[in-house]
Amino acid sequence: MAINGKCFCGSISYQIDGCLRNAESCHCSRCRKMLGSQASVFALFEPDKFSWLEGEDLLSTYNTDENSGIQFCSVCGSTLGGIYQGQFSWVTLGCIEGDPEIKIGKHIFVGSKAKWEVLPENIVQYEAWPPENT
Ligand SMILES: [Zn+2]
Ligand SMILES: [Zn+2]
Repeated sequence: MAINGKCFCGSISYQIDGCLRNAESCHCSRCRKMLGSQASVFALFEPDKFSWLEGEDLLSTYNTDENSGIQFCSVCGSTLGGIYQGQFSWVTLGCIEGDPEIKIGKHIFVGSKAKWEVLPENIVQYEAWPPENT
């Protein structure tokens, strides 16, 4: 199954020849600023299965620390994904076209969610990092 993603203006597109895994939504204040929304929603993929189809030259990078950051369209501002340990390794689910056949597995950092956010019921949630990350 190939998964395709595109930014808001359509200048940048990518393909993943494989599945996504570990879909998470993070409610921390950094993710709120990063995406201008209540939470980030992202998933991981195998880096060798990823390719940019169009517009790679229009990508801008904002480094959040030395080896990680986000990559976004310099035309429309859509955040397509990000770099972890120096490698592009996660994508935002919001830029994926169609059904990526994955659902949000857990909500993390709900302890620092915005006061105005109302969480859905019956979700798997953690106050901060889930136990396997600590
Ligand atoms: Zn764009
Ligand atoms: Zn976060």
